[in-house]
Amino acid sequence: MVRAIVGANWGDEGKGKITDMLGQESDIIVRFQGGSNAGHTIINDYGKFALHLLPSGVFYGHTTSVIGNGVALNIPYLFNEINELVSRGVPKPKILVSDRAQILMPYHIAFDAYEEERLGGKSFGSTKSGIAPFYSDKYAKIGFQVSELFAPEDVLKEKVERVVAMKNVLLEHLYHKPLLDSEEVYNTLLEYKAMVEPYVCDVSLFLHQAIKEGKNILLEGQLGSLKDPDHGIYPMVTSSSTLAAYGAIGAGIPPYEIKNITTVVKAYSSAVGAGAFVSEIFGEEADELRKRGGDAGEFGATTGRPRRMGWFDAVATRYGCRIQGATEVALTVLDVLGYLDEIPICVGYEINGEVTKDFPTTTKLEIAKPVWKTLPGWKCDIRGIKNYDELPKECRDYIDAIEAEIGVPITMVSNGPGRDEIIRRK
Ligand code: GDP
Repeated sequence: MVRAIVGANWGDEGKGKITDMLGQESDIIVRFQGGSNAGHTIINDYGKFALHLLPSGVFYGHTTSVIGNGVALNIPYLFNEINELVSRGVPKPKILVSDRAQILMPYHIAFDAYEEERLGGKSFGSTKSGIAPFYSDKYAKIGFQVSELFAPEDVLKEKVERVVAMKNVLLEHLYHKPLLDSEEVYNTLLEYKAMVEPYVCDVSLFLHQAIKEGKNILLEGQLGSLKDPDHGIYPMVTSSSTLAAYGAIGAGIPPYEIKNITTVVKAYSSAVGAGAFVSEIFGEEADELRKRGGDAGEFGATTGRPRRMGWFDAVATRYGCRIQGATEVALTVLDVLGYLDEIPICVGYEINGEVTKDFPTTTKLEIAKPVWKTLPGWKCDIRGIKNYDELPKECRDYIDAIEAEIGVPITMVSNGPGRDEIIRRK
């Protein structure tokens, strides 16, 4: 059975924790998109980890961790991450890397930073991990696929020269930065080849076989629906699809094999980078929620940047669940809201004097104003509770209200960052 775990919002919903938890029942965990630009924070028996490129299932001895073809593969980053785990006592994970994954090059990272610098105040707030230049090159057909590392020397060298010639025009005339050297780029590729060779695999064939054998496969998404380049808040989005549907492409499996789409929804909102954020809050109200949020405050796992904060946005989340095709929802970080007397949720958007419950495109989103509904808080700590019925009535009412708004069953409620802090709801 194939299950996807994806985010309904702007990312940072706690997908890492849910994947780590469900990883126990899985044989294979696959990253199918994105790169090292977003992090998952995972807290388990080995300690606290921020994973960026490795799937969140790497902590189990019985799982195989797969980097699918849809991923932006930063090879040294991947190996640093593996080495860090091993140095902290985690058994060396079993890793497979798709022969169709493309390689994120050091110049992608440089171009990302140069472009943000060039845009100045109009920048996207990129994590400067090279993601946008990487995917641009992939679709412009000037990227390097892992399989190309194994091409004859003259073929690879010729491609390197062709790519470098193009990059150098931009470096010289647009960015006024040091030029690339073909020899150096070629040598970097050879280094990468030596590093990655033992792990390279025909992932699509491997998964085809695994599906036939009835293995449990988890597809682990990064970021959330609203960062999808097609269905999100374009252009303030990421550069690869964050949707479960893309799991089929980014892993190389048939779409109809994805039976379960576990969509992770956060009990309040947070976002990083620029872009419209209708239920955003500011000042002391935001500072308080940011300080209490997540396991150690709402600060970026990759950048340490303070996240933008907001109340739960039912319009964005219902859309986020719909576009993912959510079959069930895991509601996370509910424990954080225990300090509030009343909890506002955004149940509609007012756009040009009209109230809508349908999530609009970005131009309209920019002028949307939140329509609030206020629910009573439960004013206590719900951590440690294991049975749904033991949650305070106001807390259950909050869950019911969210469920009614999003129209997808909430089957899991996360009431703490730890692997076991989960309440299964029948
Ligand atoms: P991801 O990218 O979706 O995996 O999310 P992040 O890891 O960036 O952010 C989620 C944060 O919330 C992490 O710091 C988690 O440890 C934490 N977290 C996850 N679930 C819960 C929860 O139920 N309660 C609390 N307090 N923290 C949680």
